[in-house]
Amino acid sequence: MPFADIVGHERQLASLRLALATGRLHHAYAFTGPEGVGKKTVALALAKTLHCSEAKHDFCGRCANCVKIDNHNHPDVRVVSLLPKKNDISIEQVRVLDKELSYRAFSGGKKVAVIDPAPLMNPAAQNALLKTLEEPPAGSLLILIAAGAGGLLPTLLSRCLRLSFAPLPARVVADYLISRQAMAAEPAALVAAASLGSLGRARSSDLAELAEKRKAWVAAIGNLAQGGYGARAALAEGLGKEREDAFEFLEWLRSWCRDLLIFRATGSERDICNLDAAQTIRRQSQNARVEGLLALWASMAVTEGRIRRNVNRRLALEDLLARVAGVTS
Ligand SMILES: [Zn+2]
Repeated sequence: MPFADIVGHERQLASLRLALATGRLHHAYAFTGPEGVGKKTVALALAKTLHCSEAKHDFCGRCANCVKIDNHNHPDVRVVSLLPKKNDISIEQVRVLDKELSYRAFSGGKKVAVIDPAPLMNPAAQNALLKTLEEPPAGSLLILIAAGAGGLLPTLLSRCLRLSFAPLPARVVADYLISRQAMAAEPAALVAAASLGSLGRARSSDLAELAEKRKAWVAAIGNLAQGGYGARAALAEGLGKEREDAFEFLEWLRSWCRDLLIFRATGSERDICNLDAAQTIRRQSQNARVEGLLALWASMAVTEGRIRRNVNRRLALEDLLARVAGVTS
């Protein structure tokens, strides 16, 4: 699977390919963006490009090196993630990685390390990695994968070149499902809208459940301002019952807010995730001010933090929904 087969992320891929072609690859990257949009796929593609024995400045996906990288057993490409039954990525894991990076590459190419998800490194592990980055071993490439900058030491992040990944537009996900998964146009559009811009989610088997919930959320958000306090309280009550439901809703609400910003900025539905609700998004984005939407974006992170700290979920969500109604009415 060469670069041309990776779905979306044209800008990010172009910048990496330019760096590869001109020999200007940075020694450390931070790939940030929502869950499931393809950050790790791109990180491994970069590793394959550095080790592929068939293609130049690209990768074939079939040679022994490419296959080993995909299977996480290439001697020069290490993926560090959470070990079973652990809550964080430990300093020991980072120390082992640091030692490995200091050895010469088995294949003569670069040593690559991918840490996914990087914010799960505990503070001691992050400080140890910071030391590695202060004097990066020659010929090494480190890629941190994270949903956002939160949870990473600013000093660590400042030593990485940051590449942010956006959710894939619904039309891109639908095209993929139609052309490569042989799905019919109508179900593809429904799945694409429910995938929130993630191919991983679009391919997952439990998408149907999320699709149903999302349908209800779209309807509720569309009538939030008109429904008044009663509508907000009922929605918050339902969402607040289960913590995971609340988080799922927040993730979806981010995609909605992002779509409103896109519509507001471009006046076009080309790059939105909730393509099936384009009419509602158009109407709400006409009412919303950019400052209000940005403030709403910030308050979603605050709400998520409050729910993680176990405050009253219903009240936290009610508060947030009042802001949504305020911004979109
Ligand atoms: Zn290859």
